[in-house]
Amino acid sequence: MTPTPENAATPPTPGRSRNMAAIKRRDTKPERAIRSLLHAAGKRYRVDVRVQVEGARPRPDIAFTRARVAVFVDGCFWHCCPHHGRQPEVNGGYWGPKLERNVARDRAADEALAAAGWTVVRVWEHEDPETATRRIIAVLDDVAPAT
Ligand SMILES: [Zn+2]
Repeated sequence: MTPTPENAATPPTPGRSRNMAAIKRRDTKPERAIRSLLHAAGKRYRVDVRVQVEGARPRPDIAFTRARVAVFVDGCFWHCCPHHGRQPEVNGGYWGPKLERNVARDRAADEALAAAGWTVVRVWEHEDPETATRRIIAVLDDVAPAT
């Protein structure tokens, strides 16, 4: 089950928390769609590679290691999307700080990657996969122009 504000409104038990963290890491539907579009466009990437950079070890959802382009497909709830990321009213005291930490970690990863010469592309899960893919390809072409 994909975590949503609805089913995530109750603070989980420690066991369930670990479980949800695991669920969070699995491929989401937009992620799969973007990967297959990239693949169809002839772009070759790596999935879930940990990138060792100064001060962080981010794990982009899609990584172009040679071009050093890191793509993250961010869940609207977990990463506080401005349109859908409103935290649940109930138990906001539990989720608020947790989500803030997620966002802080995202920004720290962005900065660490940029400092190491990576280009970061963040896609919201609500974005149209085709639009997102065009955006990623534009970045790739910009970073490493096709010869
Ligand atoms: Zn959203």
